Amino acid sequence: MENPAVKDARSKKIIFLSHCCLNQNARVRGLAFAPGVVRPLIDHLLKKDIGIYQMTCPEVTFFGTLRWGQVKKQFDTPMFRAHCQRLVDEILDQVMDYKRGGYEILGFVLMDGSPVCGLDTIPVTADENEDLGGMVWYTPQQSLVEGQGVFAEALKRSAAERGFDDIPFISYPEIDDPALLEKAFSQIEALF
Ligand code: SF4
Repeated sequence: MENPAVKDARSKKIIFLSHCCLNQNARVRGLAFAPGVVRPLIDHLLKKDIGIYQMTCPEVTFFGTLRWGQVKKQFDTPMFRAHCQRLVDEILDQVMDYKRGGYEILGFVLMDGSPVCGLDTIPVTADENEDLGGMVWYTPQQSLVEGQGVFAEALKRSAAERGFDDIPFISYPEIDDPALLEKAFSQIEALF
């Protein structure tokens, strides 16, 4: 039963977002598609009066803000996986605690097209057999394919292991594709 002594204005609803949905400054240079926040998404969520949890950016907290853009294979190392797992464990501990307190976790919204956060698509080298590494003036040709980024994989796997199957995962497109945006917003709308 609700205690009137602790009743306040909170909605008790929270949505979890990839860091760069609220801070495009975290993205690899050349890939920010907004000056600050991703306005269509954030404006939409603000109107819903819910709490917005900004998940830590796995890339910035491992490689910093002066990093180069990479394909998934370059992030797919035991060291970076362990880093992502640490972040995931911390996030899911908080999910667990919020749920214990009666809060509703509406979903995880992940930035698509990222080798780390991508839920539906990730960048790979056009030639998967190509040798990677070397000096910075050499960059391989990239293409987007279906797949999940390193952080997205860890978050999905660990959420399932903890029994959070009721929390939906939603992919937010990093490219201005009307069909993908419509799909993302219809999924977000369905959360409310
Ligand atoms: S997509 Fe993920 S890893 Fe890339 S900038 Fe956004 S939060 Fe960081």
